[in-house]
Amino acid sequence: MTWRYALIIDPVATDVRGTDHAATFRVVDPSAPALSIGELSTQRGDGIFESIGVVDGHAQEVGPHLERLAHSAALCDLPAPNLDQWRDAVAVVASQCPPGECVIKLILSRGIEHGPTPTAWVTAAVAPDNTAVRERGLRVVTLDRGFDSGAPVRAPWLLLGAKTLSYAVNMAAIREARRRGADDALFVTTDGVVLEGPTSSVILRFGDRYITPEPGAGILHGTTQMSLFAHLRDLGHDAAYETVHTDRLGEADAAWLVSSVRLAAPVAAFDDVSLAVDADVTASLNAYLLRPRD
Ligand code: PLP
Repeated sequence: MTWRYALIIDPVATDVRGTDHAATFRVVDPSAPALSIGELSTQRGDGIFESIGVVDGHAQEVGPHLERLAHSAALCDLPAPNLDQWRDAVAVVASQCPPGECVIKLILSRGIEHGPTPTAWVTAAVAPDNTAVRERGLRVVTLDRGFDSGAPVRAPWLLLGAKTLSYAVNMAAIREARRRGADDALFVTTDGVVLEGPTSSVILRFGDRYITPEPGAGILHGTTQMSLFAHLRDLGHDAAYETVHTDRLGEADAAWLVSSVRLAAPVAAFDDVSLAVDADVTASLNAYLLRPRD
């Protein structure tokens, strides 16, 4: 059986200092039942999560992931996570990871129905082998996300910038992409604005300029995209947030879907328009992403 690890956390409030966090962690058997039947995460997808890449025991970009966890918690009216406690939990779990690539998941659920506290846990598993997908190029179809570009401001209850556990729509989009003979999807608004993939951010290159959609557009602010933009700027490239309309997709010189575990997957086509896969740039982006990053 492949390696897995799980830790249940007893959440500590943000204003509680000096707690021995190790005493609030309980290692559990990852293959045994551990959640109550009344869990709102399983009943309603009511909770938030993060997926953190781990390379040779080093958890990548923990700070930005924890900041996004706190942001998602605020959007969902969940109690603010104590980030010192979560950071300690990530360190404990990362120290157990075998060499190579793993994935750590942080989950904060609203808890048990009528229960007093949220439920929280951290898991780790060996990451799937993404070597091929980082090289060969994805065929990507654009899919209507069903809202217009004004929705994030007009309807905050849609939780569009939160990484909630309600990923059924995202998984359905990937199945639809496969039905259409593609590998992955790219969500777009009803008025033709590019958003993100179901599990990734999109980065487009026009000449020497790298662009990605604004995080306020109802998408997640990707930790991988942020890290890559900092790296590209260090190398002297122009990297910027922009509103991107679908008609520009086919004009890109290159494009990638980027995320914490798959890293930078080059795009070989958006719908029926082929794109050149820039093998050298892709290899150097992934070499950067595989180095220890904080
Ligand atoms: N957008 C969505 C909807 C995602 O699910 C993810 C990652 O899972 C991303 C973007 C990329 O985020 P990150 O780079 O932090 O993994």
